[in-house]
Amino acid sequence: MSLPPEEATELDRLLEANSAYAAARTDDGATASARPRRRLAVVTCMDARIDVFAVLGLHLGEAHVLRNAGGRVTEDVLRSLALSTHVLGVRTVVVMQHTKCGLTGVTDQELRDRTGADLGFLPIDDHEAALREDVEQLLAQPYLSLMTTVAGLIFDVESGEVRPIVTRQRPVSPGPSG
Ligand SMILES: [Zn+2]
Repeated sequence: MSLPPEEATELDRLLEANSAYAAARTDDGATASARPRRRLAVVTCMDARIDVFAVLGLHLGEAHVLRNAGGRVTEDVLRSLALSTHVLGVRTVVVMQHTKCGLTGVTDQELRDRTGADLGFLPIDDHEAALREDVEQLLAQPYLSLMTTVAGLIFDVESGEVRPIVTRQRPVSPGPSG
């Protein structure tokens, strides 16, 4: 069912686009492995300007992409990475924050006032410090011992360039269960 454009809601547009996608589908989504082929997970911001796959030269099936406000390491990122590493074979984790992020130049209190949500918003004062903190937080989790490379990058939304800020490598670990 197709509504005139002025009456179509966003949901209508999504469903219509999906019909076309499903009809023309050529990728092997139904039969491909759920394990990311490059054994990679990327944690990045939800910012609408970041085309993660294009920025990093990734293709469907190659990586897990975990997005949230700021591209910060949260409880939910840890939950996902525990599964990425132990169940789905991920060994490299990249945290990619970006310039002009909405979480810079604001305080937690300002964001609480603005949203009415009594949450920790993880605002970013300094990207390099935030990336180091997030990378260290990942490395500190015993259940993420299967990660062999953890890196923090900054994506410049104006130039499109990515700059590495911190890279940590460590030997392959058998993991907490032996
Ligand atoms: Zn952002």
